[in-house]
Amino acid sequence: MAMYIVNFKCGHKEEMEISEKARPEQRMEWMSKNAVCFDCYRKENEKRKQERLKNNLDTFVKNQQDCPKEFVDIINKNFWNLI
Ligand SMILES: [Zn+2]
Repeated sequence: MAMYIVNFKCGHKEEMEISEKARPEQRMEWMSKNAVCFDCYRKENEKRKQERLKNNLDTFVKNQQDCPKEFVDIINKNFWNLI
């Protein structure tokens, strides 16, 4: 194992431990073209979660008008588990 500074697609750098067996040069080149750093990955994930939450909310609000009342109650109770 050795430490390498990896340049990611997003423009950030991160120090990573890469095994010599994993062909570090090829790996670093691949990551510079295809991978974002851990921070950007987390932010992107968070953004997707927010978008999903918003979509769920929109659908929920839209559907609520034509839902039977019992169903609305079930959704209300379980909404945070559904996301
Ligand atoms: Zn980044």
